[in-house]
Amino acid sequence: MPELPEVETIRRDLLPLLRGRTITAVRVAPDASRVIRDVPPAAFAERISGRRIEDLTRRGKYLLFRLSGDLWLVAHLRMTGALLHRLASDPADPYVRVVIALDDATELRFVDLRKLGQLWVVETPEEAVGKLGPEPLDAAFTAARLGRAIVRRKAPIKAVLMDQRTLAGLGNIYADEALFAARIHPLRPASTLSEAETKRLHRAIRRVLSDALANRGSSFRDYVDAAGREGTHHLRVKVFRRTGQPCYVCRAEIARIKVGGRSSHFCPHCQPERGLNADDASATD
Ligand SMILES: [Zn+2]
Repeated sequence: MPELPEVETIRRDLLPLLRGRTITAVRVAPDASRVIRDVPPAAFAERISGRRIEDLTRRGKYLLFRLSGDLWLVAHLRMTGALLHRLASDPADPYVRVVIALDDATELRFVDLRKLGQLWVVETPEEAVGKLGPEPLDAAFTAARLGRAIVRRKAPIKAVLMDQRTLAGLGNIYADEALFAARIHPLRPASTLSEAETKRLHRAIRRVLSDALANRGSSFRDYVDAAGREGTHHLRVKVFRRTGQPCYVCRAEIARIKVGGRSSHFCPHCQPERGLNADDASATD
């Protein structure tokens, strides 16, 4: 599933291509009506047609298109969704569910094998995105803020990190990678993290996301950017889907467990379940 680095890569690529363009037509495939939220496809098409795309921003894993006339088009790619920017004359792509035609003879194609992705047309983005935690790459996201968000949570830290109300944009890949970088076991109850561990985790989250963004995201299965290209960060992950392979730090075998129903990958040696003792933590911090 695309997470913050993948969605932000799409946003950065699309913004200069889409800003100022006017939507001239919208086509929704007959079998794709469930991709459109809350309104029938015809009403969706009618509401956004003729509007100009003023801006494209992101919140967590959501793309927010600000349209003329105080309306927002919101997209979430879920598992297998992608937004491809093509010439109208380009060959058809497989699994195209929605086509948004633009006034420069290009189009935005929402493709989605599994049809779990979603599009909304709303008057405020919050109507689509709901309550989300802070943006992890914003300056306002400090270690203290992370500490306040997790201090009362007894759930495993991995599950808490993936809860979009705690933090917006982190999913399975980058939660595993951040916990490895911070040397924290995924099953540790969030409330038991020490201040030093919270600081390490805060720094690890930001570094992991920034590195992935620099590599244009990870393409383990379906993710492609708006031009249909894969990212490269999956070639550089330390633990995600490396089960049984040697840890790059200590050579122990990467293990996999289920946390909150999701596969979690970690190094049993670098991320001990009881946490590092205070001496270890300060010695290696
Ligand atoms: Zn290790």
